Amino acid sequence: RYQSLAYNRVLEIHKQHLSPVLTAYFSEPLLLHQGHMEWLFDYEGNRYLDFFSGIVTVSVGHCHPKVNAVAQKQLGRLWHTSAVFFHPPIHEYAEKLSALLPEPVIFLMNSGSEANDLAMLMARAHSNNTDIISFRGAYHGCSPYTLGLTNVGFYKMELPSGMGCQSTMCPDVFCGPWGGSHCRDSPVQTIRKCSCAPDCCQAKDQYIEQFKDTLNTSVASIAGFFAEPIQGVNGVVQYPKGFLKEAFELVRERGGVCIADEVQTGFGRLGSHFWGFQTHGVLPDIVTMAKGIGNGFPMAAVVTTPEIAKSLAKRLLHFNTFGGNPMACAVGSSVLEVIKEENLQENSQEVGTYMLLKFAKLRDEFEIVGDVRGKGLMIGIEMVKDKTSRQPLPREEVNQIHQDCKRMGLLIGRGGTFSQTFRIAPSMCITKPEVDFAVEVFRSAVIQHMESQDK
Ligand code: PMP
Repeated sequence: RYQSLAYNRVLEIHKQHLSPVLTAYFSEPLLLHQGHMEWLFDYEGNRYLDFFSGIVTVSVGHCHPKVNAVAQKQLGRLWHTSAVFFHPPIHEYAEKLSALLPEPVIFLMNSGSEANDLAMLMARAHSNNTDIISFRGAYHGCSPYTLGLTNVGFYKMELPSGMGCQSTMCPDVFCGPWGGSHCRDSPVQTIRKCSCAPDCCQAKDQYIEQFKDTLNTSVASIAGFFAEPIQGVNGVVQYPKGFLKEAFELVRERGGVCIADEVQTGFGRLGSHFWGFQTHGVLPDIVTMAKGIGNGFPMAAVVTTPEIAKSLAKRLLHFNTFGGNPMACAVGSSVLEVIKEENLQENSQEVGTYMLLKFAKLRDEFEIVGDVRGKGLMIGIEMVKDKTSRQPLPREEVNQIHQDCKRMGLLIGRGGTFSQTFRIAPSMCITKPEVDFAVEVFRSAVIQHMESQDK
């Protein structure tokens, strides 16, 4: 039992002294004390199965013993800047990460927003163009620069930010006007809006026409196009098969560069591939990464080609005091080792597919579970009023199911424009019995909700 500060005092301090925009996920905020692998414990010793891993941040498990041991060793040896000295952890890390991408040049940073800031700068420095496009619903960060790329309503402020950024329609298979098929190779089919066969689905072509329209009408000179391989914050949104490939070609024809934001999708989470972009059969010019890269330790990276790196270096000295510091690099190396040693990418594939199929059964059972989608251990469950209208289930009703899951010991995330989608992205070490538990909890919460509505 955690006694250092009473629960109510914590709430008071939070209210008085911490940023008022730091909001708690639950009506009764969770006061965490300890984490172990896929489990979290609150200050009263209650145990929760963590199926959201702190917004897709903990990749190999909370306080993983190997990562902890490496961090402790480095803590006792050197923690310092990497900006003006050399130290072996950064070179060891660069060697390990570079084995996972072709001909990479690596810039190490501290957060996803910082990484995307730098990627924007690189795209402009290399292309000599200005405009950058991203999807509606995209989340790429909250810094003044990346806010221009982030197109989720409640993060937008009535303040100038992200000059030169344009949004384009998100080719959302479930909510978009034409539907489409992303899932020829997925065991779970989204119930499609269009009647064409998945193998020759024309919805993708309609979305590509929209994309061309943005390029032709809203963009003066294209510097770059940002895309998450699967949108996270927007509710695990997938695009029609083949869309990204064609979109990348259109951007490159016009002199822009293509950027994959792998902050949520990278490091084996999607199971079939180590990087999300590989699932689309594309190779971006710039890849940004954060969150899972350090298993929760602040760390991020921008990886690009030697040519783009040179374009940046020609123009300025890019300086970052803590990016690539010895602690982060030691942690990052051990995360890569653990993913390999414990076959966590394979586990994402196997356990993720198992989970997707189990949740898909709930979609078939309940009218309010409109869609179940995703890949590996990145799964979205879209809650609707009914399957025909696809209107979002009202926020308070989604809230109730969310809180009930927590009450029964399961933590899951939320996303989507109306906060209507449950997001599931656990540490990659989870097991099938834990999935069984999570699905049963979720099912009970949905049943309780429906019973409460009937009264
Ligand atoms: N890109 C994506 C896809 C993200 O999900 C996030 C964080 N939610 C970011 C960038 C920004 O990362 P950070 O919060 O570390 O700045």
